[in-house]
Amino acid sequence: MRMRKKKNCDERLEKSGQLWIRTPEDIKGAWSEEFGSSNPIHVEIGCGKGKFICEMAQKYPDINFVAIEVVKDVMVLAMEKAQPLELANLRFIIADAAKLGDYFEKGEISRIYLNFSDPWKKNKQAKRRLTHKNFLDVYKSVLNEGDFICFKTDNQKLFEFSLNSFAQEGFKMSDITFDLHNSGFADNVMTEYETRFSEQGMPIYRVCAEYK
Ligand code: SAM
Repeated sequence: MRMRKKKNCDERLEKSGQLWIRTPEDIKGAWSEEFGSSNPIHVEIGCGKGKFICEMAQKYPDINFVAIEVVKDVMVLAMEKAQPLELANLRFIIADAAKLGDYFEKGEISRIYLNFSDPWKKNKQAKRRLTHKNFLDVYKSVLNEGDFICFKTDNQKLFEFSLNSFAQEGFKMSDITFDLHNSGFADNVMTEYETRFSEQGMPIYRVCAEYK
């Protein structure tokens, strides 16, 4: 996401940073203590401005949510959105998803959400796609077999790439749709990008990939 540098970003992060985990490597293996509950942990990677994760945390109080975003000028908006909601089951990490294995033990996460990940259109950029084999290997290091990665996008080429990547890495795919909003799936929580693209009449693609 291109984002103009926010004025006073560091100050604003500090101000709304009660839910910000500054050194997540210190919590590896101890997230239940951080949340004060052993409820399952679901992670959104690339949370952007935070609409999805805030609504999910409100809708599912018995799930603990962690949002990861690499751009702090975007994350500040997500944290400012979350702050007044006073959610006990939500935390934020400003970091690259490639580092997930430094922050969580194997099996500490039970679901990963990838929503409207950057497509990185050029072939030479494929390794940056969040469904590239290298990222799937990282996700496997923090999930248990039987856990899911839920992926949504507006980008047909990224969707095709991701279906192949999941298949090659042995994930079992289900609930594949090429038009989520007309698929009868009732439980959808929209992201900022999803709202924008669906208002433009674009179809939304979705797949659930089970780690086998
Ligand atoms: N999920 C949001 C939505 O649907 O509205 C934002 C989508 S935006 C296109 C993709 C987001 O993923 C950007 O905010 C970007 O900074 C973040 N991102 C990209 N690569 C990342 C990585 N390796 N680790 C963490 N976040 C990443």
